Amino acid sequence: MSDFRLGDIIDDHCIKCRRITNHAIVSIVNTEPAKVRCRTCYHDHDYRHEIAPPTKKELKKMELFNQVLASATPPGLEEEAATPEIAVEPAKKPKARGKKA
Ligand SMILES: [Zn+2]
Repeated sequence: MSDFRLGDIIDDHCIKCRRITNHAIVSIVNTEPAKVRCRTCYHDHDYRHEIAPPTKKELKKMELFNQVLASATPPGLEEEAATPEIAVEPAKKPKARGKKA
């Protein structure tokens, strides 16, 4: 187990530099770096464990995926939606295609 201290220099991915750069630890939570500051552009951000954030393209893909999930029938409502009887019965409404006078 490694002890992190404020001001320690660690590697992390900087979204501004778009690469792994040296970062100074500016905040520590539970002995883990929480916030770091890029030593190249001085941009503060959450410590990412050297993982690049998702690109805009990936975010768009995730958004679409979530939309598909949201439009899917929630469990419990499936039976109601699959009732065939209503669809079979013919509509008996009078045809009102004439002019309304
Ligand atoms: Zn940077």
